[in-house]
This record gives sequence, structure tokens and C-alpha cells, in this order.
Amino acid sequence: MVNELVLKDARVDDDKPLVDIAITGGKIKEIGKNLEGDRVYDVGGDVVVPSFIEAHIHMDKALLEVVKPNLEGTLAGAIKITGELKKGFEDEEVYKRSKIVLDMLLSHGTTIVRCFPDTDPLARLVGFKAMLRLKEEYKDFVDMQIGAFAQEGILKSPGAFEILDEAMKMGSDVIAGCPYNENNYEDTKKHIDMIFELGKKYKKDVTFHADFGDDINDKRYRSIDYIIEKTVAEKYQGRVTVGHMTSLSSVEPDVLNDTIARMASAKIYLTSLVATDVFLSGRGDKNKVRRGVLNPTPFIKGGVNHAFATNNIMNGFTPFANGDLLLIGNLYAHVCQLGTISDQKMLLDMITRNPAKTLGIQDSYGLEPKKNADLVVLDEKKLSNIFINVPRRRLVLKRGRAIYKAEEAVVKMWK
Ligand SMILES: [Zn+2]
Repeated sequence: MVNELVLKDARVDDDKPLVDIAITGGKIKEIGKNLEGDRVYDVGGDVVVPSFIEAHIHMDKALLEVVKPNLEGTLAGAIKITGELKKGFEDEEVYKRSKIVLDMLLSHGTTIVRCFPDTDPLARLVGFKAMLRLKEEYKDFVDMQIGAFAQEGILKSPGAFEILDEAMKMGSDVIAGCPYNENNYEDTKKHIDMIFELGKKYKKDVTFHADFGDDINDKRYRSIDYIIEKTVAEKYQGRVTVGHMTSLSSVEPDVLNDTIARMASAKIYLTSLVATDVFLSGRGDKNKVRRGVLNPTPFIKGGVNHAFATNNIMNGFTPFANGDLLLIGNLYAHVCQLGTISDQKMLLDMITRNPAKTLGIQDSYGLEPKKNADLVVLDEKKLSNIFINVPRRRLVLKRGRAIYKAEEAVVKMWK
């Protein structure tokens, strides 16, 4: 049988010859030389990568910076301002804004997304329902996972637990806690217990926005020890992801190494939210200002599955970002001084292979035969340059079908 589509002369490895990628029935059928297909797309030696994976984004509260900026610049300021806006959330407005964000992601080659709509007494189920609607409407464009998110706390926000439970009943793919946003450490632990309770009740993985603070003297920002303990006790190894964890950037090396070893042993996954982490951290520091964002090298060498993601786009938490994970990778490389070729490779893993494991899709994902043909052609000849040049996405394929094209970008006298 002739292949439906062949991507000809693709650069998939800087140290090996160019290859052809044959696609049939939405899957990669073969990778080799001189492959034939009904349609042939000449890649011309440009880089082809598997689709990027956005493992952590809040589409429901993106693009709100123009409505009300976070002039304080702190995490507390961001939560407060967004909280006020959330009370006025209406179905159609949230849906339209989130749709703009989803198109931003797709046009940057991200076709697999885990999103966390605020699901609490302020936002109600408005954001959650907008995500359900987009998941169905965009099912041929994106694989979407939704995680109902307890941004306002649970103990601190009466009624939150019931709304989360309702969202789980309506089909939330994972559950997302926010244990630092409670009034004291006892409530932080209870919050973690309640998130595990929902995860177990609906047989879903659990995730936490955790330890998002500058130091660990306030134990609400040192909840990882309890999360590790709970993960092991509930036999949830490989089913728990933590995001942020910025307080770990302030601890002594021995504490960091010990935490990494125990996270790896409990198979707890980590997602760094680079732009938000660096934007909101160290706000109280008058000198030696902390960056907050975690250097991935010790985590990955220590066996922790570590990804990075966008988190927020143009709102009180992050006034920048445009849905391009390569741009976030470029920022990450600067902030954590990741300058070598092997660093670039690690960064690529952190938006492809690593988050595939986080989302539990590793069996169908990757640039290999039998895997889904979710691929991106970049306007770039060397794989090791993609975080440097942040190249144009020439073509984005979802299950072998073109869902975005930006073919020509050349300097010439246009007619
Ligand atoms: Zn988040």
C-alpha cells in the first residue's frame, strides 16, 4: 500500500542523515529513505519534531491583563485581581478568550494540552464548561486533558470541594489542588488529603500547584514532604504531578538533593512554569533577588520526570507569553544558563517526551513508527538551534492532517 503522505528530507537528528517520514491512517508508518506517498511534502532538510505538549496552562484566565493589570506584581496580587474578575465570568466571554489562546497554541505547534480551569465558588463551573466545549469542538486538532483546579483553596473557600466534585463527575481528566492557598499548614495538609480523596473516588491522577513561595519557613510552601508521604501511602506513584515548587530554589544543596531523591523514588513528576515562576519570585528581595525557577539539570539527572510549560498568558500572574513553548524554552535557557547542545536537547525533551509521560500518553506519542503523526516542521536546519532561533512553524500536522501552515517567510519584493 502506498503511503498517504511522505515528509521528504526531514532533519530529525543533527548527527544523522536526513530521512523521509511516511504517514498513513494518522500514524507514522515508516521512517527511512526514498519512501513514496500519494502526497509528498518537501521538507528540504528542515527540522521535524513531534508536536509540543503544553502540560500546564490556564486558558480560562488568559488575556486578562488588558482588563485589569496586577500593579502589585505579587502572587497574592495576581490571585486577588483575577478573583475579582472571575466573579464576572460568563460562558460566552470565557469560551471566546480561551479559543483565542487555543489557536495560539496550535499555531505554535502544540497539539496536546492539559489545561487547569479555576473551579471554585468565584469562577463556578464557567471556565470548566468552556474547556469541555473546546475539547469537543477541537477534537480533530488537539488532544486535551482538563484538570478542575482549586485556585482559591478548599478549606479557605467554602463550597469549593462540592464544585470540584461536580466537575469530576462531569468528566474532569485529572484533579488539581492548590495547597499553598490555605490559612495555615494544617489546612494545607487537609487540602492535599481532599485532592487525593477526589482522585481516588474518580480514579484520576492528581496534580498540585505547590510550594510557590520564596522560602520554606512558612510550611505552606514546603508541602512536598507531605505530598511524597501521601503519594506512597495511597500507592499513587507515577500519578502525581507538582507545578511551580519555587521554594526549592532557596534551599541548601543537601536539602534539594534529598528532596529530589525522594521525589524520584515516589515517581512524582514536576512541571516548571518558567515565565510565572521568574516573574513572581523574589519580589520581597532587596538584593540577591531570587529567580524562583528551578534549574532542571539536578532534577533530570536525579531521575525526576521534569517538564516545563506556559501556565499563564498575559494576565496578573504572567503579563507576557504568547503560547510558544520554544520562546519559554529560550527564556528558561537564559535564566538557568542552559547553553550547551545537550542542554538544548534536554529542553526539547521537556516539552515533548517528558510531558508525554506526565500526561500518560507515551505509548502513542513520539517520532517513531506506529506513533500518532502529530508533527511539526520548523523553518530551521539544525535541531540544536530551535531554542536559539525560535523558528517559524512551517507546518503542523495532527494525526497526519495539516492544521496550520506558514509556508513562506522570505525577504523579497512582494507583488
Ligand atoms: Zn498553574
